[in-house]
Amino acid sequence: MTGKVYLVGAGPGDPELLTFKAARLLRSADVVLHDDLVGEKILQLVPAHAQIHNVGKRCGKKSVSQEVINFLMVTLAASGFEVVRLKGGDPLIFGRIGEEIAALRQANIPFEIVPGITAALGAAASTQIALTHRHSSHALVFIAGQTASGDDPADWRALVSLGATIVVYMPGSHYSKIAHKLRAAGLPDDTPCMIVSRATTSEEQVYSTNIGNLGDAPRLATPALLVVGEVVRHASHRFSLEGLGSLSFDAWDGWPSAEPSLVMQTKSPSSVTAFGEEEQGA
Ligand code: SAH
Repeated sequence: MTGKVYLVGAGPGDPELLTFKAARLLRSADVVLHDDLVGEKILQLVPAHAQIHNVGKRCGKKSVSQEVINFLMVTLAASGFEVVRLKGGDPLIFGRIGEEIAALRQANIPFEIVPGITAALGAAASTQIALTHRHSSHALVFIAGQTASGDDPADWRALVSLGATIVVYMPGSHYSKIAHKLRAAGLPDDTPCMIVSRATTSEEQVYSTNIGNLGDAPRLATPALLVVGEVVRHASHRFSLEGLGSLSFDAWDGWPSAEPSLVMQTKSPSSVTAFGEEEQGA
């Protein structure tokens, strides 16, 4: 009898942000094929007798090709196994799921998609950014800063003209490139933005700045994303530039400088998840 493939979102990092359904499927899986962005705590749900394979990009090592991942899903399910294909965040967002769906359809393998909380929503929750604050933004755009091919098909000027909050996934390590695109597309230098690294985990870090100064931002650990737009002004007072302006910097001993932007470790080390170093997706 043919098994089934579940394309499951693991959420942004905090294991408690996993859905009930994802947890149930992991507990009953025969095989789990997961990406690097999935933390250890989540994988601990998988029963001892099940196979677990990391098919994500590995730091410095060769990644498993998409063809091999497709082949594994199809052959394992065709042999009767229940396969969970586990991806960081939501599986439908910058997760290369299109190819996987096509392969499963072509092989006539039954499959189901189980959504997860995408990184942008995890980051917005941690920093208390109302992504569509009614006074500042009526639209929300998720965009990939880098694509696998290296092309950039997006019309950034059109995006900026929407007046949307823009969340840049895979912003790359040199924020000056993104800053240049945003400025060239017409965003003023004082547009606030925030880099959120390892959102929702104990290693979360936040850096608040504006488009004009984004190029000088420190390189935060991956995975990280960038939230751009006026809504960033409404972030938790702790992280917003306006909030920083009212603080005495003497109180923030140990931070790099009294520049109007800073790196903040935002979580207590209670719920620990660790990431691999590589970027995923697109
Ligand atoms: N499917 C995933 C996105 C995969 S693309 C999702 O829905 O979240 C990988 C990119 O997602 C990373 O380069 C980074 O920009 C972003 N990302 C994933 N997890 C993140 C996290 N915990 N904190 C910040 N950014 C994250």
